[in-house]
Amino acid sequence: MPRPKSFLKKVSVDMTLKSHKCQHVKTHILNQGDKRMKLTVGRTHEHFCIECAIKIIDSDIAKLKALREALLSE
Ligand SMILES: [Zn+2]
Repeated sequence: MPRPKSFLKKVSVDMTLKSHKCQHVKTHILNQGDKRMKLTVGRTHEHFCIECAIKIIDSDIAKLKALREALLSE
């Protein structure tokens, strides 16, 4: 059986190297050494603070569950 694919290839967690703003809410500041969510968009990356990342992940979990339901329903 083939190895399971993933629809979530473009996201990972990394560490802030230099203080910058969160790309979802500009008033959120990420400090050097903070964990952050890294999203690859084309050739660039967008970085989100933990608070925003958790909200986005929760929303994506709901979306994935809905897609799962849609595939399984008749
Ligand atoms: Zn944020």
